[in-house]
Amino acid sequence: MKIGVLALQGAFREQVETLEALGASASLVKTPGQLAGVDGIVLPGGESTTVDKLLDSSGLRTPLRDALRDGMPALAVCAGLIVLAAEVVDGRADQQPLGVIDVTVRRNGYGRQRDSFEADLSVPEFEAGGLGAGPFSGVFIRAPVIERVGTGVEVLASYNGVPVLGRQGAMLFATFHPELARDLRVHELFLSSC
Ligand code: GLN
Repeated sequence: MKIGVLALQGAFREQVETLEALGASASLVKTPGQLAGVDGIVLPGGESTTVDKLLDSSGLRTPLRDALRDGMPALAVCAGLIVLAAEVVDGRADQQPLGVIDVTVRRNGYGRQRDSFEADLSVPEFEAGGLGAGPFSGVFIRAPVIERVGTGVEVLASYNGVPVLGRQGAMLFATFHPELARDLRVHELFLSSC
């Protein structure tokens, strides 16, 4: 099983390290050819407006959208979720999210960089899936706020009443950075769907 990590911009190296710590084989995806060779994909955090532009220059926009629509398992983190969302509030005017996850997100909805924070999250799904009990420490860095979730979206964790971890089909998403926690359970849950 080969997992791709979208490597156009952002925190992709940390994603490769986390996947490898779980024994998965991870490879960087910068071209449509590299996307064609993977069984699942991680969309890392970073800057969604930059990734949006690079999806066009790399030629990945359409093949990535099609692969996700066809059911390729994905883990979308922070900016990665913004890229996949149905609707983005406070985005750049020409930002075109791929529209494969039925959520509305507000970019930088928790405030600026200095408003970044850490919070303990309760994720019942981990215990149900045999991944162990106990909270997951979520690191939020200029995270988006999920303002709406569609009926096909399952909310797996919330913070102050706002969804922060969820799933639509084979696509798992987090507004925090699971690769920065010393806790591999979000990635384990993702790999179990691949
Ligand atoms: N604020 C960033 C954006 O709008 C997301 C930040 C992150 O991925 N940590 O793309």
